[in-house]
Amino acid sequence: MISANNPALTSWLEVPANSDFPIQNLPFGVASTSENDGFVATRIGDVVINLAMLQARGYLSGLPFSFEDFQTKTLNAMMKKGKQANRSLRDRISAIFSNDHDALRFNVEDQALILSTTQAVQMVLPVAIGDYTDFYSSKEHATNVGMMFRDPANALLPNWLWLPVGYHGRSSSIVESGVSVMRPKGQLKNEGQDPVFGPSARVDFELEMGFYTFDGKPLGASISTAEAEDYIFGLSLFNDWSARDIQQWEYVPLGPFLAKNFASSISPWIVTLDALQPYATETPKQEPAVLPYLAFEGKKSYDIALEVYLQPEGGEENRICHSNFKYMYWNMAQQLAHHTVNGCNIRCGDLMGSGTISGPTPDSYGSMLELAWKGTKPLVLSDGSERKFIQDYDTVIMRGFCENGSVRIGFGEVKTQLLPATND
Ligand code: MN
Repeated sequence: MISANNPALTSWLEVPANSDFPIQNLPFGVASTSENDGFVATRIGDVVINLAMLQARGYLSGLPFSFEDFQTKTLNAMMKKGKQANRSLRDRISAIFSNDHDALRFNVEDQALILSTTQAVQMVLPVAIGDYTDFYSSKEHATNVGMMFRDPANALLPNWLWLPVGYHGRSSSIVESGVSVMRPKGQLKNEGQDPVFGPSARVDFELEMGFYTFDGKPLGASISTAEAEDYIFGLSLFNDWSARDIQQWEYVPLGPFLAKNFASSISPWIVTLDALQPYATETPKQEPAVLPYLAFEGKKSYDIALEVYLQPEGGEENRICHSNFKYMYWNMAQQLAHHTVNGCNIRCGDLMGSGTISGPTPDSYGSMLELAWKGTKPLVLSDGSERKFIQDYDTVIMRGFCENGSVRIGFGEVKTQLLPATND
């Protein structure tokens, strides 16, 4: 077992009840303050821990990291050190803050340098994201979309059960939680009419998880399903904003383009794949049997409860979806094995989106398109208003957490307000 995952550990830092961030989590992110415009951080409860200061004060001695790896605006330098180094870093942090270690616990001067609170910092986009790939790996989601847009009797396209379908997206427009997104404009086409230009009328969210990679293998080499998790750093909540009307007109023959690349939002704390090991679970049965390079052994899916809330301007949060990452038909190891099977390389800081995570029941669908079934079943909010898609000034909030026995670890949230389309 990874020592930082020990469920018996407690911290000398206070952890509020039901916190997403007990000592067993130790996610990584990048924080900034008015005095320090970027440092690598972790957190326990609502206390933010500055890793650059931990390093400077000698608490990380013997580990393969320098002060410069942490006094920086991205996690890329830290991630560049790979899986084992990052595992040893998390284990060391766990030891420093666990109840049976006193060095920092009773050093008030060092604490003043190293510790702050979540209120005192701003979390920023944690990684300089290289290539971004989005998959389409929920069978329920793919079936629902196929039923709405194609043939209800043959909702899944013939390749879907044989390979994890994906496309290459755009990393420049991925923004952190709290950054507002503007309604996109584009070509919209009603049946039997010529297309027109205007603001999208069907802005939607997609409930996804994103995973960040370490450096992979050289161009031409492939990563097997057995090796894949060694190349995964960690996961965040991911809202893949989508404009359904733009998408419907543009997506044939080459797939998503302007319907997707205007924005995606990501939660700021990256929960390591190591921290998620206690929540590993079986992948749903795959039928027909997959080709050998996609076969895998062991538990490669993760039990992560997911929720989506819609908050109208000035109103209260309405929970509109609860799903689970474990529903995904294709797991991350299979996605990475497929991505590299042709020799395509991956690099430190690449991001892979899971695809919309829909479950088996109508309240577990991971998009408005499905929840309101293409506008035919509007959602009724607590203030009596209806939604078919997302309205201007609505805020969409995604949350996720794992829970088994005594330990709950979570992802925090990704929270984004949709603003009206601009006039210029
Ligand atoms: Mn997507």
